[in-house]
Amino acid sequence: MSVNLIIAASFFAATLLFIYGLKRMASPVTAPSGIKVAGWGMVLAVAAAFLYAFDVRPEAQSQLGVNIFLALIALGIGVGWAWKSGKTVAMTAMPQMVALYNGMGGGAAAAIAAVELYSGNAQHHGFTVTVLALVGGLIGAVALSGSIVAWAKLDGRLNKTIRFGAQQLINGSLLAIAVLLALYVLSAGYEDIPGFSITLFFLVSLALGVLLTTPIGGADMPVVISLYNAFTGLAVAFEGFVLQNPAMIIAGTVVGSAGTLLTLLMAKAMNRSVKNVIFSNFGVEDDSGEGIEGTMKSVEPSDAAISMYYGSKVIIVPGYGLAVAQAQHKLYEFVKLLQKNGVDVSFAIHPVAGRMPGHMNVLLAEAGVPYDIIHDLEDINEEFAQADAAIVIGANDVVNPAARTNKSSPIYGMPILNVDMAQQAYVVKRGQGKGYSGVENELFYADNTQMVYGDAQKVMVQMIEAVKSLG
Ligand code: NDP
Repeated sequence: MSVNLIIAASFFAATLLFIYGLKRMASPVTAPSGIKVAGWGMVLAVAAAFLYAFDVRPEAQSQLGVNIFLALIALGIGVGWAWKSGKTVAMTAMPQMVALYNGMGGGAAAAIAAVELYSGNAQHHGFTVTVLALVGGLIGAVALSGSIVAWAKLDGRLNKTIRFGAQQLINGSLLAIAVLLALYVLSAGYEDIPGFSITLFFLVSLALGVLLTTPIGGADMPVVISLYNAFTGLAVAFEGFVLQNPAMIIAGTVVGSAGTLLTLLMAKAMNRSVKNVIFSNFGVEDDSGEGIEGTMKSVEPSDAAISMYYGSKVIIVPGYGLAVAQAQHKLYEFVKLLQKNGVDVSFAIHPVAGRMPGHMNVLLAEAGVPYDIIHDLEDINEEFAQADAAIVIGANDVVNPAARTNKSSPIYGMPILNVDMAQQAYVVKRGQGKGYSGVENELFYADNTQMVYGDAQKVMVQMIEAVKSLG
């Protein structure tokens, strides 16, 4: 069997593993094995890529040893770093890790484009391949620098949302310059490669990624990360065409389409368009809290717990603060005590609760909460009106009634969980901190709301003790 045939068969098998793995990721029950299946697909694809070494052009044979050595060093660094960060990352820091890894993918695609363009390989293969290399290079470079800025923002290393006049004009001009440079590179052919223009093309693309991302702030960051994920997928797919590598084409297309769908779903859950996310400035200045009437009233965790214990229907709304406090296990312990007393307990999950899609589902699954008591917004929102109590634990924006009523609020139009419609609402949080979007929350001032101040984990411990003390 020829080497090429083995490579093609391996890529085909890897592709099947990617698709099958992705399908298994559709349900929380099968997702862990889905990730492993797709991971094995990636191992196979990387291993198959090494076989190219046995089929290289004769003039490159002298470099073979050096190239394999360099590839192994790169693999060692990559695997070591990913293994360590994957093992140690906190659930709350997952979005920034995803941002960083996305950026790496975009950067790798841009690097392939650079190698193919500087060496003239792409130009040698004709017009279409050169166009694909350039488009993939542009998108990959934007995804790289944009993701790094997104990572720095989410990780709290860059707190500024930098905006200045004519920003969009400057971004438009940068894009136009990148396109003009690309056209110049195209027109030059492969006999006289314009190295300086190629360098400038990449620098302009990187600058575009930075300037596109710096003005975006607040609750939009996770959407932007997903968008760059889609960009990375596209860039990898384009470079896959350049290298004639089917595994890259298929994996890139799958990532590109999954990222695009995710971006659209997240924007839809916030009732915003993707264009609006990128070009409008959301979630920074907020004066929407000015007209809020009422006062915040607090209650002891034990009193809130006992009143829920004697209720008949309780709905729990988890949010980002639950993940920060790692209170999911204590929460489920409390839920089991309520259930033992005959209380009907359900969880209500907002599509953008937490910092990434599915964040809350993963957290609750980790604590062993059964899937049949976890409900999506559209399935449970009607039920709040019949609940004796709704308890919000470390969530804020996703239960803010301003989204329904206050047209001047930046979150106006976002679907929210109807906690304010329950007979009694309890809100567990540490203090007066605002939500991720920086908007004040009317719910906290409502007549039927009581604040339970404290770290979510500590509050849950107190609630458990209070209920247990009842006998
Ligand atoms: P928020 O960030 O709005 O609120 C979390 C609240 O938790 C804060 O008000 C904070 O108040 C409280 N908190 C923090 N730490 C603790 C702790 N240790 N114990 C108790 N409470 C704590 O979270 P939500 O989940 O309600 O909203 C998610 C936000 O993320 C939305 O703005 C959403 O649009 C955005 N987003 C999410 C996406 C996703 O896919 N999940 C995608 C796009 C956007 P205090 O400081 O007073 O304790």
